Amino acid sequence: MTDVVVVGGGVAGLVAARDLAKGGAHVVLVEGSDVLGGMVRRHSVAGLDLDMAADSFATRNDAVGRLAIELGLGNEITAPDPRGAWLMTRDGRTSPIPETGLLGIPGSPMAADVLAVVGQKAALRAQMDSLLPSPVGAKAASLGELVRKRMGDRVLDDLVVPIVAGVHSTHPDDLDPDRVAPGLRAALLREGSLARAVLALRARATAGSAVQGIRGGIVRLVDELVADMETYRVDVRLRTRATAIEEHAVEVRTEDGETERLVAEHVLASTADPARATGAERSGIELVTLVVDQRELDAAPRGTGMLVHPDAPSVRAKAITHATVKWPWLAEAAAGRHVLRLSYATAADAVETGRSLPVDPRDPVGTRAAQDAAALLGVRIPVSAVVGAARVRWHGPDTTATGLADGVVGIGEASSGRGLAGIVQAARTAAVHILDS
Ligand SMILES: Cc1cc2nc3c(=O)[nH]c(=O)nc-3n(C[C@H](O)[C@H](O)[C@H](O)COP(=O)(O)OP(=O)(O)OC[C@H]3O[C@@H](n4cnc5c(N)ncnc54)[C@H](O)[C@@H]3O)c2cc1C
Repeated sequence: MTDVVVVGGGVAGLVAARDLAKGGAHVVLVEGSDVLGGMVRRHSVAGLDLDMAADSFATRNDAVGRLAIELGLGNEITAPDPRGAWLMTRDGRTSPIPETGLLGIPGSPMAADVLAVVGQKAALRAQMDSLLPSPVGAKAASLGELVRKRMGDRVLDDLVVPIVAGVHSTHPDDLDPDRVAPGLRAALLREGSLARAVLALRARATAGSAVQGIRGGIVRLVDELVADMETYRVDVRLRTRATAIEEHAVEVRTEDGETERLVAEHVLASTADPARATGAERSGIELVTLVVDQRELDAAPRGTGMLVHPDAPSVRAKAITHATVKWPWLAEAAAGRHVLRLSYATAADAVETGRSLPVDPRDPVGTRAAQDAAALLGVRIPVSAVVGAARVRWHGPDTTATGLADGVVGIGEASSGRGLAGIVQAARTAAVHILDS
């Protein structure tokens, strides 16, 4: 019998499999596709090697940084350009994102950069947060309700909505504050105001920027994790899908149709149990990468990019990253060209917000994306300046695997939420618990 079967070879599965095997367990890792890494993958656009999805990790904990150091990438950890990103409000105004915020919630409501976005009246309303008793909003069911109660509608709509839409692809009214801002509620009660709670959480995070990257791309983490599968003798089965996941067994089917029942002491799953899946279509994200030759972009007109209010006029993209501004190592590799990454909603989300990218078979490079990039960055981008383009579709955050059978250890997005910081931390904790059991 195998000690552990890990289902899913994304970052969560790779990290758990590595730690378990390194700790002496015999591990089988089953991955349905023919590559490891899941959403952390690389593609080549106009000859540049680029991350296909995640390009950074949050520093609200040190989980990814520590992992990178263990994987020999400590010297490759890099901070993004400090210029920061901008946002576009519902009425199409653009401003730099205020410096001392958390998911758009201002830490200093009367700061000049907050006033520039919301105006004086709304800033004064937000400032009232410091006078309200601390329990006001502390039991809010959603992030939206919490911000609305403490700081008012305008701060929520102008600051929090565009940032949350860009980061979590949803409205703050649909987000549990404990999931996206762990510790915020407790800090509010402790500090007496939401603004002070934001400042306290920011002070607790790793000094410096809220995210970091890896020179050469986040995907280098996966390169090293994959190499460790061999080092620690993990039995990796590619093109092998789990078809049913139980506490002590996983049914798998290979691409050739062969089936097997893998019996194990422990089962970890970073996916939903296919035997229980609802089959409901999940909303998702389409990422369009453009490599552009346009000198006007050298001035970094919108810093590292822009997050867009879901109702902003005339553009369809939800967000744009000016990747060659955000990552100096990439600017060097791009040798004067610019890398722009635009994200769009797909499926259910897109119907609701109208923010999908129309598929035009005559336009494989996405003229519409170039138009959006030009509108967002305030720079002319003729199609002739686009020297490379790629479109990749991803599904939205998975919340379905909460229905795993009792005893199956859930890891990955479905259990820990979207984002590498939480996923890596939880996968490693799960591995420690198993090794200690
Ligand atoms: C466009 C985009 C940008 C992002 N940017 C960032 C960012 O900048 N920073 C950040 O921290 N996070 C970012 N994320 C989120 C982050 O990439 C993910 O949260 C994380 O990579 C998920 O890892 P995972 O292992 O949980 O899942 P996945 O990467 O989805 O891996 C799951 C794996 O399981 C396999 N699988 C599925 N079903 C089965 C089955 N039945 N049997 C066997 N195998 C199966 C899949 O093929 C896949 O390889 C981004 C996501 C997207 C889409």
